[in-house]
This record gives sequence, structure tokens and C-alpha cells, in this order.
Amino acid sequence: MPEPDTTVHDVVIVGAGPAGLTAGLYASRGRLDTVILERNMAGGQIALTELVENYPGFPEGISGFDLSEKMKEQAKEFGADLREIQAVTGLERDPEAGCWTVITDQGPVRARSVILAPGREPRRSGIPGEAEFIGRGVSWCATCDGALYRGRTVAVVGGGDAAVEEGMFLTKFADKVYLVHRRDELRAQPIAQERCFANDKFELVWDSVPRRIDGDQMVEALEVENVKTGEMRSLPVNGVFMYIGQIPNTDWLKGVVELDESGYIVTDQLLRTSQAGVYACGDAHLNQLKQIVIATGEGALAAVQTEKYLDELACALPGAENAAGGSAAASA
Ligand code: NAP
Repeated sequence: MPEPDTTVHDVVIVGAGPAGLTAGLYASRGRLDTVILERNMAGGQIALTELVENYPGFPEGISGFDLSEKMKEQAKEFGADLREIQAVTGLERDPEAGCWTVITDQGPVRARSVILAPGREPRRSGIPGEAEFIGRGVSWCATCDGALYRGRTVAVVGGGDAAVEEGMFLTKFADKVYLVHRRDELRAQPIAQERCFANDKFELVWDSVPRRIDGDQMVEALEVENVKTGEMRSLPVNGVFMYIGQIPNTDWLKGVVELDESGYIVTDQLLRTSQAGVYACGDAHLNQLKQIVIATGEGALAAVQTEKYLDELACALPGAENAAGGSAAASA
């Protein structure tokens, strides 16, 4: 455990994906005393993406890891204090000190404002064998584990951008990639679909859901059920990659800021949450499009709004503090 941090910072940013890092860049350039909390130095989901092709400025594409590292470097360059933690467990208001406390496994971090950018994590299917074979054939990260499947057969479950793009990446190594999707058309963007349909290594398994993962020491088969016919089929695979969507990392915020029924953080257009001085951005925020470019834009806006909030606090007479943020989400 590091020495206790007794400073009340200007802003603490929870999450170091594109949203959190961009918020950190803008806040530190705005000369705010800025702390960014990063779980496991992971850099968010983007760091696990093999190739990012739709972030402007990189016509050849850029690896998600490299883009994440550049964003970190840029935020640090302007003074953001990037700290590694394992977990964030709570957010508490200290009315007497007029600040917020983010509770982490590395101790509390206090600040006059908070930007929430905790991102999302892969949804689990819950089928038998999924938990048992983690690290022995079940994975959520083609970028991390793909090379283990050179010359082998894998199944990718899902029909969204992640499933199709990561499945495409796996065709670099695997001889065959089953794409198991519960409907008969993909959700992924047309350009990704075109590439998938043109790749001989893919076999599309339509209208099918995974039911069980089998094996002895390692994964040997994925049992799938055709939802239209009820027919069961055993796919002989060495690996199963699950890309059936994401869930926001917001359990620790329940009862503190307003969340929607799926756990996404509700804000108004200025990214104010239901608590004064707390802003939200990125994939865990309730918005229409989960893209890096949106996350970075939201990060910038959240930081600029935070600066304004702190300026207003500094100018306000005692007792006027709560008027600065108000219950914005409720009035959105
Ligand atoms: P997603 O778009 O929500 O797709 C999840 C897929 O899994 C869908 O095809 C869904 O089927 C299927 N699915 C959901 N629950 C299932 C279950 N219980 N059993 C079987 N299948 C299930 O998730 P994602 O692909 O992780 O993408 C998340 C977001 O990130 C999206 O907004 C996506 O556009 C974005 N993203 C963008 C890029 C890019 O721009 N290059 C890359 C990756 C991700 P249905 O289609 O039937 O609902």
C-alpha cells in the first residue's frame, strides 16, 4: 500500500481508456491538478484491439495498444498523474471538506470534482464450461491469445463489430474460424461484414447460440443449438472467443449517481451526472454510439465542464457550492 494521499486534488478521473485519458489531457492542459486512476495499467478495451482503422489521423490504421500508449504519454506530458490501481470500490461525498473521495484498493483519493470514465467489460455467456476453461481455450481477447491458435480451429461467438473484427484477426493464425451468431444477419458494420464474407477461413454458423464448452484439459468442442430447428451441433474447436457485448463497470456507483436499468451512467448534454461536480464520459456513459472518437470527444467536454464547475466553485460565496452543478441529469 502506498503512502496515504492526503491532498484534495482538483479532479480525479476514474478510468484510463480513450475517454479518461483525453479528459486527463484537457484537464491537465487546463492546469488542474489531475489524477487518473487506471486499473491494472490496462489502457481500457482499446489497448486489446489489434487494429483501429476508424480513428481519424491514422489512414493506415494504428494498433489499439499504440494508440492507448500515445494517449497516456500525451496526458502525462501535460502533468496528469497516472496511477495504477486494481479496483475502485466506492465514491463518497464529504460535505464538510467539500470534496469527493474515490475509494480504491490502493487507498482513498480525494478531489473537488470527479470524471467517471470506467468503461465496460465483456459480457459472459454463463454457459457450462465458460468459467472452467478460462485460460485453457476460453478467451475474450483475440489480440492477447490469437497467436496460440496457429494452425488450429476456433469459434467466435457474436455478430457485432467486435466478433467480426476479432474473428478476422484470428484468421491470421487459425486455419478455420467458426462465427456463431444467434440470427441470420450480422450486426457489424458493412465493411467488416464484406471482409468476413470474402474470407475463406470463416464458416458462418447462423441462428445458433452456444450451449456448452467441452474438453478434458483444454477446450475440445463448442456445442451450439440452432434456435430455429432446435438441432444441436458440436463444433470441434481448440478455442472459444466470446464477443456477445459489453457491460458497464458501474456496480460501485449504484446509489451514488443515476444509472439506467442496464447500469449506464445517465448525464445531461454537458455530461453532468446526478451529483454536482461529478461528470461521466466514454463507454460506460449512456450515449448512442460506442466509438473511440466519441469517447475522446466526451472526455474533452467532461474536462472543460469540470474546469467551469471548479471556477464557479472558486467564485461562489460559501453556501452557493451546490448550485454550481445541481441535479443536472434529472433536468436533462
Ligand atoms: P454488440 O455490438 O452489442 O454485439 C454483440 C453481439 O453479440 C450481437 O451480434 C448480439 O446479437 C450478440 N449477443 C448478445 N448477447 C448474446 C447472447 N446472450 N448469446 C449470443 N449472442 C449474443 O457488442 P460488440 O461487438 O462488443 O461492440 C460493442 C460496441 O463497440 C458497439 O457499439 C460496436 O459498434 C463498437 N465497436 C466498434 C468497433 C469499430 O468501430 N471498429 C470495433 C469493436 C466494437 P444480436 O446482433 O442478435 O443482438
